[in-house]
Amino acid sequence: MDGRPEVPRCSLCTGPAVLFQRQSGRHLCSAHAIADICDRVAETIREESMIVPGDRVAVALSGGKDSTALLMLLHRLLPLWDGVSLVAITIDEGIAGYRDETVRSAELLVNSLGVEHHRIAFEDLFGATLDEYLKGREKEACSICGVLRKKALIVGAERAGATKLATGHNLDDEAQSVLMNVFRGDLSRLVRNSGSDSSGRFIPRIKPLMKIAEKEIATWLLLNNAWTDLPECPYSRYALRREVRSILSTLEYRHPGTMLHLLESKKTIEMRCAGALAPEPIRHCRLCGDPCSGELCQLCQLKKTLGR
Ligand code: SF4
Ligand code: ZN
Repeated sequence: MDGRPEVPRCSLCTGPAVLFQRQSGRHLCSAHAIADICDRVAETIREESMIVPGDRVAVALSGGKDSTALLMLLHRLLPLWDGVSLVAITIDEGIAGYRDETVRSAELLVNSLGVEHHRIAFEDLFGATLDEYLKGREKEACSICGVLRKKALIVGAERAGATKLATGHNLDDEAQSVLMNVFRGDLSRLVRNSGSDSSGRFIPRIKPLMKIAEKEIATWLLLNNAWTDLPECPYSRYALRREVRSILSTLEYRHPGTMLHLLESKKTIEMRCAGALAPEPIRHCRLCGDPCSGELCQLCQLKKTLGR
């Protein structure tokens, strides 16, 4: 004993541990942490039948940590499925001092992996950058950005001929969304999943990282030498998500498993309320013809509200 604190050992091989999974109580070394996260992503994809042979999976690649990990993991798991191909779609919202750096990071990644890449700019698609859209409306940034980005991703997936659209939502994001929808009193949004393209075809959205905690993704990237320090979106300070995130982090620390339980609650609600909360029949937007549930699609409604 030299007085230094003992390094925790991996619960699987006794090597030096780099990750502690509070919920399972396991310590994992670098090799086992990398393998564990990869295996759990593959298991989620299998359990939820997210990817089937022949799929062309479009990965929404912002260049941030979650989407970077998602593309790397799917690329690594690709040999598991017959005839599955990957394509990355990067949306450039036009946010000064933020998006340029993440777009550069996305480009470096697709080049190193040899993945086809489509870049869609709000300016080309909607005639203005997000910064221009948000003048005087900064507090609504995330809801406006969300509607525009959803449309841009659908256009990207269409252009790429994708059969699935994969996003990097992790366990923290999913648990936050459950709570946010409860706080907003919007139970139906909890179970809604709209991904129709402009021809009314439904492009299923998949979230392969939905059971992996943000902290684990960060660790996985560090262990794979893929961690990059990137700036935060300047509008994120207005987001309700930011407050919910802080509440949930505290709860998860004090009561490990809280976030996973929220995800399970969402699943139970989906199963039990499938009939009661059945999605409204798909109609077509009066202005643009896109599939929607009301008279106008979210995008046309937004343009109307913004006077564009
Ligand atoms: Fe868009 Fe909000 Fe995300 Fe910024 S933080 S990219 S405004 S959704
Ligand atoms: Zn419309």
